[in-house]
Amino acid sequence: MDFDLTPDQLRLQETVAEFARKEVEPRAEQLDRDGVFPTDLFRKVGDLGITSIPFKSENGGMGLGTLETALAIEQLAIADQALAVTTMVSVSAGLILERFGTEAQKQRYLPGIIKGEALGALAGTEPQAGSDTASFTTRATRVSGGWSLNGQKAYITNAGTDISSFALTLAITSEPGAERKRYTLFVVPNGTKGYQPGESYRKMGWRSSDTRPLYFDDCVVPEDAILGNEGEGRHLLHKGYQQARVFLSHCSLGLAEASLRRSVSYANERKAFGATLGNLQMIQELIAQMAVKVDAARLLAYRAAYMGDKGTVTLRELAMAKYYCTEIGSQVADAAIQVHGGWGFMDDCAVSRYYRDNRICTIGDGSSQIQQLLIARSLGLDVRFAS
Ligand SMILES: Cc1cc2nc3c(=O)[nH]c(=O)nc-3n(C[C@H](O)[C@H](O)[C@H](O)COP(=O)(O)OP(=O)(O)OC[C@H]3O[C@@H](n4cnc5c(N)ncnc54)[C@H](O)[C@@H]3O)c2cc1C
Repeated sequence: MDFDLTPDQLRLQETVAEFARKEVEPRAEQLDRDGVFPTDLFRKVGDLGITSIPFKSENGGMGLGTLETALAIEQLAIADQALAVTTMVSVSAGLILERFGTEAQKQRYLPGIIKGEALGALAGTEPQAGSDTASFTTRATRVSGGWSLNGQKAYITNAGTDISSFALTLAITSEPGAERKRYTLFVVPNGTKGYQPGESYRKMGWRSSDTRPLYFDDCVVPEDAILGNEGEGRHLLHKGYQQARVFLSHCSLGLAEASLRRSVSYANERKAFGATLGNLQMIQELIAQMAVKVDAARLLAYRAAYMGDKGTVTLRELAMAKYYCTEIGSQVADAAIQVHGGWGFMDDCAVSRYYRDNRICTIGDGSSQIQQLLIARSLGLDVRFAS
């Protein structure tokens, strides 16, 4: 086994780390307070090439892999998980388009995503169903020359900014009452009549990432707005979610790493009982446990990315990485608050932001419960999602 990154991967990691330290970290707290998506900062992410990493060179990308992309996302998340999430959702949506889209769709939508001048969204969740993707009700009906979408999506990332480009939107395309529901994924560009992102939610964390409900009211799109084939939509959306799962693991990993670093540094500074906090054995124990969790998470996250690039990854490795990394993200951020004492509870202290930001990671993109069910099923247990 070779755990070393290549010289090129190390260079990429350091380049993004430096950008995150200089450009992102100093703004993260204020962005969290303002709760507004920072278009200018995201454009810098694009200028640095981060959004182009996994795309094919013939499409304008760097032609690198999931691992390189994940390394970059992890470094962004060390500074600001909300910015890392914005990036990874857009890249995930773009990768699905690159893999399954027509030439015309790729030419129209990919350049903006790859350059980081535009954002893509993945619109699955609805107000009445998230984990239970078979209960979505947004429907597309055939009209002359295309399809008319009606319904509502909930909690969708990246759809309502000034650079939002499209939402890959899942809708039922079978007749009402059909024995088997068929779902289809549509590329719905922002500005389409009848498609309206709603007001931003007020959120506990990820405050500067854009999250909104989406409304489809007789939203007519042409036949060629279908991504892949009619009836393949759930499969394609799940592919998008699975890709995002690797990156979300690295979002939590980066945040856990930041929590650990801040805890070590605070423990070495803060005076207590005639020495520093770091001299107290119970604080040492807490920090040692944090470090073990971060390292174990890193191994699972890197394995999922590495196997993704080799084409050998299965739902089990993805679920293990997503489950463990996001869970320990919350545990490690919580421990970091403990190390920081009362100061850790203050909004001005970064670790309190980490704690709030990571909370959604065990829920979104397949909750911890769903990941555990997938792991159990992969081990041969009889797991059923439908009653
Ligand atoms: C900030 C934010 C951003 C988001 N971005 C996006 C996005 O870009 N695109 C998108 O499509 N969605 C997005 N989501 C939605 C997110 O993916 C869902 O919230 C998530 O999938 C859970 O669905 P739900 O909220 O409907 O909860 P539910 O599915 O109702 O689940 C509620 C609880 O029940 C548990 N549960 C559900 N089913 C089972 C089961 N079979 N066995 C055991 N426990 C179960 C869940 O784990 C959870 O704890 C976002 C959400 C937030 C808050």
